[in-house]
Amino acid sequence: MRKNIVAGNWKMNKDLLETKELLLGLKDKLSSFSNVEIIVAPTFTNLYMATEELKQSEIQVAAQNMHQTKSGAYTGEISAGMLKSIGVETVILGHSERRAHFGETDELLASKVNTALQNDMTVIFCFGEELQDRKENAHFAVVENQLKKGLFHIDEVNWKNVILAYEPVWAIGTGETASPEQAQEMHAFIRKTIAQAFGGTIADEVSILYGGSVKPGNAQEIFAKSDVDGGLIGGASLDAESFAAIANAI
Ligand code: PEP
Repeated sequence: MRKNIVAGNWKMNKDLLETKELLLGLKDKLSSFSNVEIIVAPTFTNLYMATEELKQSEIQVAAQNMHQTKSGAYTGEISAGMLKSIGVETVILGHSERRAHFGETDELLASKVNTALQNDMTVIFCFGEELQDRKENAHFAVVENQLKKGLFHIDEVNWKNVILAYEPVWAIGTGETASPEQAQEMHAFIRKTIAQAFGGTIADEVSILYGGSVKPGNAQEIFAKSDVDGGLIGGASLDAESFAAIANAI
């Protein structure tokens, strides 16, 4: 049975005290949940505090990025080992903002994926087409290409440590959401593509999250689709009440 997951990407928002306040709010509002895994991704400086704060909670903590090498002269970067040393076991890779603003290519992401998996971390792998791709009816090809180049080199056994996040770039932070039907259509395509390469069992077991302007008001109809296993939430995850409402929509 694949897992339902709601993950919050807090991006470069919230300082230490604000992060703590949000975590306390979430702990309060999400004290009991059984059918969904909750993951939050604060910024690097707040990760250690978050892992400490959530020790007695089932809410998990993820990093928003990491470097692909173990250590060395990479000013400003953070390694998998550093994350693991503070109890962070999950990392978001390939977010469209990393791809667009920091030049992260499919090849670089493939190497980051390897490092994360070699360190027994779970990867939330993000991918999705731009508006122009969809206008040109190239969205399936673009998504297939990102998926294959970034992820399809991994061993079958590693799929259990992969969560996919389909995030059409045109829907991220824009208020524009893919319709439930558009999300379902793409998620089914992604699952079929994985089934063709790795078999039906792996494809059935992998959780595919939808990301792009999910809010309390639209979460339920998106999550109701059979191939949508939850969401990666940006803006609406910055408020405990709205994030909890989204988690409860599963
Ligand atoms: C995201 O950044 O992953 C995201 C989905 O953002 P938002 O929910 O704000 O569109």
